[in-house]
Amino acid sequence: LNRRLAEFGTTIFAEMSALALRTGSINLGQGFPDTDGPEEVREAAVRALRDGRGNQYPPGPGVPELRTAVAAHQRRRYGLSYDPDTEVLVTAGATEAIAAALLALVEPGDEVVALEPYYDSYAACVAMAGGRRVPVTLRPREGRFRLDLDELRDAVTDRTRLLLINTPHNPTGTVLTREELAAVAELAVERDLLVVTDEVYEHLVYDDAEHVPLATFPGMRERTVTISSAGKTYSFTGWKVGWVTAAPELVTAVRSAKQYLTYVSAGPFQYAVAEALALPESYYTGLRDDLRAKRDLLAAGLEQAGLAVFRPAGTYFVTADIRPLGESDGVAFCRALPERAGVVAIPAAVFYDHREAGAPFVRFAFCKQRPVLEEAARRLKGAG
Ligand code: PMP
Ligand code: GLN
Repeated sequence: LNRRLAEFGTTIFAEMSALALRTGSINLGQGFPDTDGPEEVREAAVRALRDGRGNQYPPGPGVPELRTAVAAHQRRRYGLSYDPDTEVLVTAGATEAIAAALLALVEPGDEVVALEPYYDSYAACVAMAGGRRVPVTLRPREGRFRLDLDELRDAVTDRTRLLLINTPHNPTGTVLTREELAAVAELAVERDLLVVTDEVYEHLVYDDAEHVPLATFPGMRERTVTISSAGKTYSFTGWKVGWVTAAPELVTAVRSAKQYLTYVSAGPFQYAVAEALALPESYYTGLRDDLRAKRDLLAAGLEQAGLAVFRPAGTYFVTADIRPLGESDGVAFCRALPERAGVVAIPAAVFYDHREAGAPFVRFAFCKQRPVLEEAARRLKGAG
């Protein structure tokens, strides 16, 4: 392994999912739903396969049906208008979009400012691009992980190339507020920075929280690469269909990198996801209602087990503080949890450069069937 990647090793998700299998534990670690997405979307994939649509290399930017559906979704939901031919790119999941965006836009030595804790691929992709990551720590205050705008401002230097933002935020479940996002946008404009924004959890927001795309703020459309994916919204994490929307020069740049990573993304699923994007509003309401109830179920279980819970406004993760249990090392806690309780969770520390800032936090996924969450809660309480 070369020096750029040496520090990364195996991703925590693979490690913890293997641990769950080995110990027969309930896997609340890796974020994937234990039920599949809509039947009609699965049928659409079968139809595409059977009719020979996408069984040979699809077009590099993605099939026109999907690019059109992505553009229509952005317009309908957010009033953002993108040309499907020049401003939309289909990728192999959001993961490839992140990699291609960073490889295309970061020069060796450039600084990339990212919110910490961060999704693990960010650090690895910044490293692969030869960039330097500069983490800005989200700090818990009054029940929520918050962005300190002064810290963000201080993190930007003359070497900063881009801001890498994620909202709704994995792993904390924070949804950046309109005010926080406006400040990020102002800073980006003032310092003439590019912004890559990972909005894969755009539809998973609860209660009064609202997802506002960064690209909707003044001066942002032309400097923002927005990333999303079918994995979370439609519960098809195995399909690996993601997309980028951005101004033509940025999409062209990201596509230059993408063509040498995967060339194109798998064909038949693209047709199916195009149909998913046209689902009626009731689909999204149903998804949110279901996940909100599961969030509340798991949060109550964790509280009964003695953990301090940060009730997430978005995503399907809940982060908890283990200090009320008299523990302070989340990594040790998560290593012991399968034996102790038959449950797997993810230590948030692995998403931090400032490991001590994340040490007492542990992330649990609640995108699981109710009986699974109930059983996990019982086990955690019993072990407490
Ligand atoms: N970004 C974030 C914040 C994620 O949590 C995930 C994974 N689940 C991804 C990107 C990757 O998405 P995909 O599975 O579409 O590659
Ligand atoms: N995004 C998912 C999570 O945060 C898992 C993705 C992965 O396994 N790489 O759990």
